[in-house]
Amino acid sequence: MFQVETGATVYAEPCPCCGKERRASFGFVHENGDTVAFYYAALAPLSHSEKSVILAVSLGDWGHEVDPSTRLAAVMRARAVEGEIEIAFLEPSESPVKDRAQLGPILSRSDVVKNVACDRFVGIAGAVLLDDADVNEYVAR
Ligand SMILES: [Zn+2]
Repeated sequence: MFQVETGATVYAEPCPCCGKERRASFGFVHENGDTVAFYYAALAPLSHSEKSVILAVSLGDWGHEVDPSTRLAAVMRARAVEGEIEIAFLEPSESPVKDRAQLGPILSRSDVVKNVACDRFVGIAGAVLLDDADVNEYVAR
């Protein structure tokens, strides 16, 4: 069971494809009292033909002194398709996080499905989509 702790700030930033403003939310994910992941969710501008959330999730220790290379990250796209949430992995180059080094190594689409952490990335993405209020409102409306 994951607990999602959303950051206080929602950023507005230009969408890389069209330059229109998109919102982004970020925060940490806890499990049994431990911080187990960081997430960053970029919400596609409403001018896009389809609503989608680009989500970077980085598993690992997010303490201040920790070497980021000990973390492991993946990038996903979530869309609402006929009332169901569909989650697909993306390539590292599609990460919405500018400071990629902080996330640790980002797995490619072909590597993430072979990684033992694959289900964990999807589980955390599901928790963020439900429990980050801004993200949930965006996908549900
Ligand atoms: Zn765009």
